[in-house]
Amino acid sequence: MKESTEILISEQTIKSRIDELAKEIMNDYRGNPLTVVAILTGSLVFLADLIRRLELPLRIALVQASSYRGKTTVPGTLHVQADLLPDLRDRHILILDDILDTGRTLSHMKEEISEQGASSVRTAVLLRKKGRQVIPMEPDYCGFEIPDHFVVGYGLDYNDEYRNLPFIGILPESSGQG
Ligand code: 5GP
Ligand code: MG
Repeated sequence: MKESTEILISEQTIKSRIDELAKEIMNDYRGNPLTVVAILTGSLVFLADLIRRLELPLRIALVQASSYRGKTTVPGTLHVQADLLPDLRDRHILILDDILDTGRTLSHMKEEISEQGASSVRTAVLLRKKGRQVIPMEPDYCGFEIPDHFVVGYGLDYNDEYRNLPFIGILPESSGQG
């Protein structure tokens, strides 16, 4: 429930940070065409807000990846559904994900897209959880570092709920993960 979800990052704070990220990205790509590959479903809201601040020739591609099934906050096997991806050869790619946790999803996607012959592959995450990464990788752009809580809202779900919250909240009765 919205009422019982503790706010970790407010709507306004997210908005200001995304403005800054967009400026950083525009400064780095300097007008070069960019293809944003968003990892569904969690990055949907981040994608929608970020791209509207990017003044660059821009394409969007989607891929689905998930490592959570149903009512769990413990990551399982990574499932990737890449049928929606267009030909990414010779394009500059920015992979977008909601949150960097163990690092498995993003490192896997980066490798897979690099193998497809992209000109360059960078990564952007809205959130990065402290002390959780098992695959060493540095995202090129990161919105916020957060403590080890299971978070929901702004696209992130628990059992497919809460994605529509406009802020990032801590799931009630969660103070860490297994
Ligand atoms: P990783 O592969 O880095 O362990 O996990 C990344 C994926 O796990 C994210 O794309 C996200 O879908 C999910 N995830 C990791 N931590 C959280 C969390 O605190 N809340 C939610 N809702 N999803 C998470
Ligand atoms: Mg995800």
